[in-house]
Amino acid sequence: MNILLLGSGGREHALAWKLAQSPSCTKLYAAPGNPGIGEEAELVSLDAGDHGAVASFCTEHAVGLVVIGPEAPLVDGLADTLRAAGIPVFGPSKEAAQLEGSKGFTKDLCQRASIPTAGYVRATTLDEAKKALLAFAAPYVLKADGLAAGKGVVIAETREEAEAALIDMFGGKFGEAGAEVVIEEFLEGEEASFFALTDGTAILPFGSAQDHKRVGEGDTGPNTGGMGAYSPAPVLTPDLEAQVLREIIEPTVATMRAEGNPYSGVLYAGLMLTAKGPQLIEYNCRFGDPECQVLITRLESDLTEIMLACATGELSGQEAKFSDKTAITVVMAAEGYPGTPEKGGPIDLGASEAGGAKVFHAGTAIKDGTLVANGGRVLNVTATGANVTEAAAAAYTAVEAIDFPSGFYRSDIGHREIAREAA
Ligand code: ATP
Repeated sequence: MNILLLGSGGREHALAWKLAQSPSCTKLYAAPGNPGIGEEAELVSLDAGDHGAVASFCTEHAVGLVVIGPEAPLVDGLADTLRAAGIPVFGPSKEAAQLEGSKGFTKDLCQRASIPTAGYVRATTLDEAKKALLAFAAPYVLKADGLAAGKGVVIAETREEAEAALIDMFGGKFGEAGAEVVIEEFLEGEEASFFALTDGTAILPFGSAQDHKRVGEGDTGPNTGGMGAYSPAPVLTPDLEAQVLREIIEPTVATMRAEGNPYSGVLYAGLMLTAKGPQLIEYNCRFGDPECQVLITRLESDLTEIMLACATGELSGQEAKFSDKTAITVVMAAEGYPGTPEKGGPIDLGASEAGGAKVFHAGTAIKDGTLVANGGRVLNVTATGANVTEAAAAAYTAVEAIDFPSGFYRSDIGHREIAREAA
């Protein structure tokens, strides 16, 4: 079977690497891809925003499965166009992708399905939003309703700060995404991510992970797309996972289906593990980046078979077997990130993969025959071990073998779990 993978990040490199290992993958195409993905797939020039062009490419190249990596084309309805053309797609419809595309949509769904989540109010005007603040105590959680590349959430310590943030949001700081704002109760606890695949009916648990959003050591500094992750997340015990499936994932899938809006693809639940149990912070309609890299590293089953089953409504009976080992990934970013990253810095991967680590490419390019930085997050250095401590040691050995003078990384990925393992 021929497969088309859309996207260009470390997430897509991990997916490409695993899809290509499958005996059922005859030919893998990727658009636009990156130099790492280019080692696994034929890179093609296709604009994911041009739905007709993607569908024509699939017909011309007998593509039997399209895997859509990032959220934007999903929220934009690419899966609908492809399905209408009879092409199996891994990823939800535009309607169902609202689980990520509209925070208000998800909060209302949680309310209808009695899914544990923070109390909230949706507001479409500044006045409404200011009034709504009165019902909450500090710290105030304010969220632009739509997609804002992970930057649409403000946690304000005082009412004045919250009002100023609301003025920015309704003033157009996040464009259309901020035309509506969700104000939420602040939840206390540790965050973890849980993944499940679904074809709209069957559910296949797909593992857990924890990421590191802040740019600086000790979880300080501005938020990023993620500076590192590990899987599994030991805080999400088997009992808690069962609770998440029962109280969050299953009612979501059942309610979406019952309301005529079945969800198919990966459901990525961002959770807060509170004293009252796991609560849903958000849903994403695609794999996390860099969480995908650690999940896929541990996956022992055939990803192509699983994704195809998911896309064709035949997920029931599929198994996802994961290694008992821990996988960890350390993101190497270009100086300046998460502001304006320095582009063009040379990279020498050296013998980084000699000890069994895998370097997934994110923002890289080849310039005059040399590998260079071409984005904020550049490399995802991934290794496994018996626990987080061992996996981290292996990953940092590989990181140190890489010569990337204009890059930087956090040296404490996994710190919370490493401290617990030492205790
Ligand atoms: P991303 O795409 O970066 O995951 P996002 O913009 O879609 O984020 P959320 O995941 O909803 O937004 O929120 C971002 C972060 O804000 C969360 O990871 C969490 O740390 C914090 N946060 C969100 N909601 C709450 C809440 N109700 N209580 C406490 N913290 C919260």
